[in-house]
Amino acid sequence: MSAGAPRGGDDPVARAAELRGLIAHHNERYHVLDDPEVTDAEYDELVRELRAIEADHPDLVVPDSPTGRVGAAPSTLFAPVTHHVPMMSLDNAFSPEELRAWADRVAKQVPPDTAFECELKIDGLAISLLYRDGVFVQAATRGDGTTGEDVTANIATIAAIPDRLDPAVGRPPEVLEVRGEVYMPITAFEELNRRQAGAGERLFVNPRNSAAGSLRQKDPSVTASRALSFWAYQVGEVGPEPSTRPGATMSALATSQSLTLAWLDRAGFPVNPEVHLVHGLDEVIAFCGRWEEKRHDLDYQIDGVVVKVDDLDLQRALGSTSRAPRWAIAYKFPPEERSTRLLAIQVSIGRTGKATPFAVLEPVFVGGSTVGLATLHNEDQVRLKDVRPGDTVVVRKAGDVIPEVVGPLLVKGRRRKPKWTFPTTCPVCMSPLVRLEGESDTFCTNLDCPGQRVQRIAHFASRSAMDIEGLGEQRVQLLVDHGLLADVADLYTFTAATFEGLEGFAALSTANLLVAIDASRTRPLSRVLIGLGIRHLGQVGSVALARACRDIDGVLAADEATLAQVDGVGLVIAASVVAWFGSPVNRAVVERLRAAGLHLSEPGGAAAGADPTLEQTLEGRSVVVTGTLEGYTREAAEAAVMARGGKSPGTVSRKTFAVVAGRAPGASKVAKAEQLGVPVVPGESFDDLLAMGVVAGAS
Ligand code: NAD
Repeated sequence: MSAGAPRGGDDPVARAAELRGLIAHHNERYHVLDDPEVTDAEYDELVRELRAIEADHPDLVVPDSPTGRVGAAPSTLFAPVTHHVPMMSLDNAFSPEELRAWADRVAKQVPPDTAFECELKIDGLAISLLYRDGVFVQAATRGDGTTGEDVTANIATIAAIPDRLDPAVGRPPEVLEVRGEVYMPITAFEELNRRQAGAGERLFVNPRNSAAGSLRQKDPSVTASRALSFWAYQVGEVGPEPSTRPGATMSALATSQSLTLAWLDRAGFPVNPEVHLVHGLDEVIAFCGRWEEKRHDLDYQIDGVVVKVDDLDLQRALGSTSRAPRWAIAYKFPPEERSTRLLAIQVSIGRTGKATPFAVLEPVFVGGSTVGLATLHNEDQVRLKDVRPGDTVVVRKAGDVIPEVVGPLLVKGRRRKPKWTFPTTCPVCMSPLVRLEGESDTFCTNLDCPGQRVQRIAHFASRSAMDIEGLGEQRVQLLVDHGLLADVADLYTFTAATFEGLEGFAALSTANLLVAIDASRTRPLSRVLIGLGIRHLGQVGSVALARACRDIDGVLAADEATLAQVDGVGLVIAASVVAWFGSPVNRAVVERLRAAGLHLSEPGGAAAGADPTLEQTLEGRSVVVTGTLEGYTREAAEAAVMARGGKSPGTVSRKTFAVVAGRAPGASKVAKAEQLGVPVVPGESFDDLLAMGVVAGAS
């Protein structure tokens, strides 16, 4: 069955029937088999479409419509368990407007100052835990809301779930049902996938499916090996309570959702620390917005915020539909995963010759932008994810992380193309590609490979290295293609005549480029070292090396052991540096750079990475950069701060001069800055901060 391309045409009767079939099918794949064929966002769209048809044509609402039901019928793998208090789903709001519409409906029945409990919507699976006289006796999945599956033995392996209630809460009710979400922490998920990769097994797609799959196992020892965890968020059934301690019983104490959570916390259950009691919808919307930004600061996945009327009497008055309570709503974040067709897998050649496979996708809008290409990292990742051209794949774009292909969405019975194999020759120069023993990366071994050459020269000219404005990858490609540029030293032989007749090189831009090339002659040695693109030698190592050796002759004279002594260098970098300068071809390039008048020395006494040609506007100051800055990679932004005499550490402290917050900034850094009174500068003001060293437009 396909994800949901309309086949019912314009006929609402046919389309409604078709949607019901599709949704039932996807419910089973997701809730029973833990192996969905479509992303959550695509599933949600099918449900929304069916709801819209049912709203327009109430006569088409059938009693068993999935819009009125919870989950899917439980599997026969486990014994059935009846929920005496039904386990419901939640209605969804996909925008602040839909949230307001819900609040308006609720507002008709509640006092104006009603409090709402805002909770993170944990992306795991709902579980019911039964305690008799305070002792854990049974656990069940939600199933169809009325009947779940008995997973007691599996749940008993989860350390976070108490086997008895803490006596601090007094004598517990005879029967107490606690509900919450079982989830897999992101670090545990990554560790699980590392183990899978080590064993050559297929990778799991996301923490939610791994948690569900890990819990619904016949063998509890498998569950035990999967590091699952739990957050409690509700009380279900409550049996008779002891009357010996009047006033201290659970139901007397827990008259609201927030007090219930406080009680659960004292009883020994993990309660999510981010829950927040607010008044009025504006505060609800602010909470949702805050967590939409901060969602990646957590070690567990959340897909939204659950907003609940706090007062339990009001909850009872509002009641429920057959599927979901009226007193709560799930505000869903925009999706970060989408499915699309994998058109082809290709390989790109980087400046070190590294051959990186990437996916060519049918463009898809996800995580705030359109994605047409996504990395596949290396050969093993393609094999372990088992993605093949022609597959429908899940693409994930989260925060400022580069988009990646998560895995295929497999439909039973659908024929697939054969497994993709890594090419044996470089797609640019046709030289053999070589994968070194014990490494996961594959390399083009031809140093003259035009693919590598373009990347190497573009890297040399980039902001974090020689900062030659006007010399991006496209221009480098053009100059290489015309045989005008073979290595970085050629740049310093350029004159206006070089560009004559070349498309895209008008007189003015040529003159500017020549000025920029000329200005780069004075860059300190550390920036030249960054620009040479020596394997393993990054920005920190380059600065350390340049400071220790003072000038290029110092670097050339040092042996491996001496370089390895330098703080921030170490054995691997030292070996790589010595090997690079040991090559006669590379040595000749260095000599030509020297002859071209490059300074090739590190100014003494200056701060690491400082550029003596620039005003030291940030001398001795720490500037923390977070999020994406327009026109800068993270490395380039840090190098720009260092070039101005500053430092760019990864953490905010009292001594931090300013935090620059680009797009999708790390919320913990911004929060820390606010807490310490450190100014937060918007990304657009970064250039001003560099140029003037004063904090403008800070919040
Ligand atoms: P839901 O996930 O939208 O909301 C209900 C669930 O939220 C609860 O059962 C509970 O498990 C969870 N939850 C997390 N934190 C909570 C909190 N603090 N308080 C209360 N509940 C909390 O609804 P659902 O009925 O469980 O599932 C429907 C959703 O599941 C869909 O919107 C979709 O995202 C996903 N789904 C996907 C597919 C697919 O094929 N990809 C198929 C079916 C369902």
